[in-house]
Amino acid sequence: MNITVLIKQVPEIALIKVDEAANKVVLPQGPGVVNPHDEFAVEEGLRLKEKTGGKCVVMTVGTERAESALRNCLALGVDDAYLLTDDLFTGSDPQATGRILAAGLKKMGDCDLVLAGKQAIDSDSAQVPAAVAAHLNLPQVMFVKKFESIGDDKATVFRITEDGYDAVEVNLPAVISVVKEINEPRLPSLKGKMAAKKKVITRWSAADLGLDGSGIGNNSKTKIVKVSPPPPRPKGEIIEGETPEELAESLFKKLRDNQVI
Ligand SMILES: Cc1cc2nc3c(=O)[nH]c(=O)nc-3n(C[C@H](O)[C@H](O)[C@H](O)COP(=O)(O)OP(=O)(O)OC[C@H]3O[C@@H](n4cnc5c(N)ncnc54)[C@H](O)[C@@H]3O)c2cc1C
Repeated sequence: MNITVLIKQVPEIALIKVDEAANKVVLPQGPGVVNPHDEFAVEEGLRLKEKTGGKCVVMTVGTERAESALRNCLALGVDDAYLLTDDLFTGSDPQATGRILAAGLKKMGDCDLVLAGKQAIDSDSAQVPAAVAAHLNLPQVMFVKKFESIGDDKATVFRITEDGYDAVEVNLPAVISVVKEINEPRLPSLKGKMAAKKKVITRWSAADLGLDGSGIGNNSKTKIVKVSPPPPRPKGEIIEGETPEELAESLFKKLRDNQVI
């Protein structure tokens, strides 16, 4: 089974700042990290490959800075890495990113399963996997916590819901996003890290993918109108009391005084 895992390089979240005057998000310098939710998708891709044979590769849309995220995945044991990169991609919204990834997957060909994380921790839209599926006209199952079974042309997966899970049978190829409950990601070995340094990363530009800029980059349908930081959290209050009973009484009094109960 040939599996492609979509990964995003994200900045370290604590270092992100918002410049309200300039209406933009200021990203920290440095290589960033693999989106934490994508680590579970990479791990599942590797486990499925180990079970079924074939290849597990990673693909990203990003700038040259995304190379280190791809090398981190190579160090874990993925077979190849694809970086879709071009100035024409700058300004792409999630739908446009989905279109670019779909073009990359089409060019690569021979893919039985596309895995993704449930969402990126920076832009957080959780739209890209569904957009990829729509552009490729593939079935999609989002927020999967378990692969119950997998064959050449069908998989049964458990998709989380608010009150439990659904068992879904899906035809392959399909696009599947996974949640953190699915596995525990492995750590890279020293041998893996050394091998990853030497691997050649395939780079494809817009021209390589047959994209001319329409519907992607600055021609995306979404426009960012305003950027502002989230409001500061209100100050917490410590409820005092020597015993559990006193604490409960103080808490009830507080809730009653504020007409919460
Ligand atoms: C108008 C507009 C302009 C933008 N301009 C830029 C820009 O110039 N530069 C920029 O970096 N961002 C830009 N963004 C943000 C960019 O659109 C999103 O970061 C990107 O499309 C992914 O969306 P998301 O982060 O919400 O991912 P989600 O949909 O939350 O991600 C879900 C999963 O999809 C996969 N995935 C997401 N993004 C990628 C990716 N890039 N490559 C491979 N797999 C991926 C991962 O598996 C991820 O876990 C812009 C957004 C808008 C709305």
